[in-house]
Amino acid sequence: MRKTISTLLAVALAAGAAFSAHGAAAQDYPAQPITIIVPFSAGGPTDTVTRLVAQAMSEDLGQQIVVQNVGGAGGTLGAAQAATAAADGYTLLLHHIGMSTAPALYQSLPYDPQTDFAPIGLVTEVPMTIVARRDFEPETLEDLLAHIRENGENITYANAGVGAASQLCGMLLMDALDTRMTEVPYQGTGPAMTDLLGGQIDMMCDQTTNTTTQIQAGEIKAYAVTTPERIDALPDVPTAAEGGLENFELAIWHGLYAPVGTDPAIVERLSASLQTALATETVAQSFADLGTAPVPADQATPDALAEKLATQTELWAEVVAAAGVTPQ
Ligand code: ASP
Repeated sequence: MRKTISTLLAVALAAGAAFSAHGAAAQDYPAQPITIIVPFSAGGPTDTVTRLVAQAMSEDLGQQIVVQNVGGAGGTLGAAQAATAAADGYTLLLHHIGMSTAPALYQSLPYDPQTDFAPIGLVTEVPMTIVARRDFEPETLEDLLAHIRENGENITYANAGVGAASQLCGMLLMDALDTRMTEVPYQGTGPAMTDLLGGQIDMMCDQTTNTTTQIQAGEIKAYAVTTPERIDALPDVPTAAEGGLENFELAIWHGLYAPVGTDPAIVERLSASLQTALATETVAQSFADLGTAPVPADQATPDALAEKLATQTELWAEVVAAAGVTPQ
């Protein structure tokens, strides 16, 4: 009997110690630099968004935030690394729509986007642009569509791997035209843009956060934006619908995640910090210059991101099936 009581007491004390260690960790958080994994190359659209947000969050949290680029396989390598990181709030993931498309596009994904992560909040929705090297022959979207139909696989199309926004856009374009181009995968569209500027690749479809500056400078050709209306940053670029491509709307939503099991108090702190960061003038202005905008504060929350991920996962499963794409 004595033994049972002392065992129970020991268990209770251990539980109490664990509880207070947990609470203390949340209270002191962040006590060391935080890493945000970007599952694409440096210099690309997700990297650009992340660095702007990380800088503002770091000021709010009073702690350094390091951005780590883990590119490859359409963002799944970086996401897998984040899924297995310690759930202590010091390793996070900033990923986009690819979190919702990967389950439909990969036969065996080493993580479950909906159960292996604790959502922190939505960040932004970025329009896409259909662009090409400066001296690519077609002048308008109409010309481009005809050119793709005629030349198919002779055209090189850059993307950031299966499940990346650039790949999804190309997949939808090829499906709409019922033709194929030669896809050239990169670890992110940052390096793909370098090759587009150098003329080594013909075209790509990428987020305005990676194309606006080059379009404005006339360094690449822009055929369309994938929004229902033209956007302020690129007033001369027609919408896909204006150029004859109906129902071709695509917005690339981004979210911030922690590994599942992260203390809810830490998740809450990060979500509040994300909201503060998105409300800063610097982030709002930089996003606007790049053709996008921060989400409103009530979207930069765990619930809003969880819901977006769930509904988009369902939607993309249907889109991928309808496009007749076999998961790889
Ligand atoms: N977001 C990717 C990047 O940052 C590109 C993509 O999704 O296509 O490189």
